[in-house]
Amino acid sequence: MGNSKYLDSLSAEEYAGLTKKLWTIQNHKCFICGEDIDLDLNPTNIDHIKPLVNGGKDDETNFALAHENCNKSKQDADLEVARAIARLSKIIKDAEEKHETPSLKHVLAANDGSLLDFSYKNENEKLVYAFSKTGDDTVRTADIFLDKLSGEKTAFIQVPLQYLYHDEIINPRGINSSIGLLIKEFHKGNPQLHISLARLDGDRIMIFDGQHKAVAQIMLGTKALLVRLFLNTDVDRMIETNTTAGSKLKQIAFDKSIVRQLHDTLYAERIKKYQLDHNLAEDCFSFSEANLVDHFKGERGNIRTYIINSQKNLVTKNADNKLQSYINFEGRGSELPLSYSTFEKTLLSRFINAKTILSTSLDYRADEGLNPRVLEKEQLIQLCNILAEELLIGRYSAEVGTYRIENKVAEGKDKDITDDHLAAYRIFKEEIMYNWIQYIELLIKNFFSLTGELYDDQNLFQIKFPDQLWTNIRSFIRNLRDLPLWKDRTMASTVFGGKQVYEYWSTAFRTGKTPDGTLVLSKPINVVEMIKE
Ligand SMILES: [Zn+2]
Repeated sequence: MGNSKYLDSLSAEEYAGLTKKLWTIQNHKCFICGEDIDLDLNPTNIDHIKPLVNGGKDDETNFALAHENCNKSKQDADLEVARAIARLSKIIKDAEEKHETPSLKHVLAANDGSLLDFSYKNENEKLVYAFSKTGDDTVRTADIFLDKLSGEKTAFIQVPLQYLYHDEIINPRGINSSIGLLIKEFHKGNPQLHISLARLDGDRIMIFDGQHKAVAQIMLGTKALLVRLFLNTDVDRMIETNTTAGSKLKQIAFDKSIVRQLHDTLYAERIKKYQLDHNLAEDCFSFSEANLVDHFKGERGNIRTYIINSQKNLVTKNADNKLQSYINFEGRGSELPLSYSTFEKTLLSRFINAKTILSTSLDYRADEGLNPRVLEKEQLIQLCNILAEELLIGRYSAEVGTYRIENKVAEGKDKDITDDHLAAYRIFKEEIMYNWIQYIELLIKNFFSLTGELYDDQNLFQIKFPDQLWTNIRSFIRNLRDLPLWKDRTMASTVFGGKQVYEYWSTAFRTGKTPDGTLVLSKPINVVEMIKE
């Protein structure tokens, strides 16, 4: 590969001979991608496995054969690292093609993992076990440690991959591209500092924490992982502990939308338990949210929170929600206009009342399409879709993104920032969205007041909206969008220059002027005028 004196010294015939030799040693496979090489059809390269700059030798023991394409597009100069990353990318791609979230589950499946049940016994407070199904009959013993505060019993054992499973209940998260860094780290020979956590589920060993580290090591060829094994843990409590660790306690970087999803699972588990406790069939939903709250009173965890968060999750993650692809769930990055945190604080929290627990049965009026929770979900998705259609689709460009956008405008470096893009960015700023969402609430209430219908002002989206109301909402959003201030580039360093408090924009909307007296609207916002088509 250019820098090899050894390879440069070979004649064309000798080079071809070495190619053939490596091809045979590698079982006709490419060192990087692991797929077959057809020497007649595929251009190939011989390359150093360990780069010379890292102390690799310039001789046959350090050569490998790869597709020329794979070698050109490799993700690391070290071929072992490049191979690990390439094979992981393939596993991720295969999972995504099946519309699954790539996780440790897929990595284990691709590496002969998750096949066997664990054989063990508890003898005098020692864990006695063997991995006989792998051909190893050694009987091993591990101390069982009791944590007096929690009552949890754990043992530390090394487990072959065949006996490891990914715990999708406690840890529904997928893996992300940052694993490349972990692969490099472990390849350098640096040890894993935090041990993976697992629990016994019947005879299965389920890893519920440390999946990124596990994946990185498996991709580098590790065949067994050291885990702290919880022997008789309560799943609900562990979900709660793990959720709290990631949210309130900040032990793990969970993003908020994942917390929602976990609560969703907890809610589903509670429903099942309620049915079981009352001898009800799985498809019987003749009980209410209030019944659930009563039944699980005093229990660890808060069922009210589960119910509300489950609803928020159903709105946010619904495949029909067109706004979803504009929401930044990870909390970082600058491609998308709307952070999950903003979405939750503005739209979700305003329209899904955290205090409301329904006393109608879960399936109340479901057959008529008038179930309050279903209506609430569907109509909130419809609102999200109007926002996406009128403000974002074909207007906002993820490529242009949000990074330093007002600075670029103020500095005149804004050629690729269209008026529509700038308007979308500004309208979805948290302190601005928080205020215009209130006008939507007002126009819904006005509508029902004028038609003379009774409505529940705490749970507006739980009754069916007539078509005319949807037309009004869409007109309001269009008129809001077309206000000149969103496109005004002279305001980039002033009004839009920094983050303002909510009141700043509430004053601006109510009076036309910001609290410091800058005129931003020709007149105060009036919903009656703003719903005119
Ligand atoms: Zn290849």
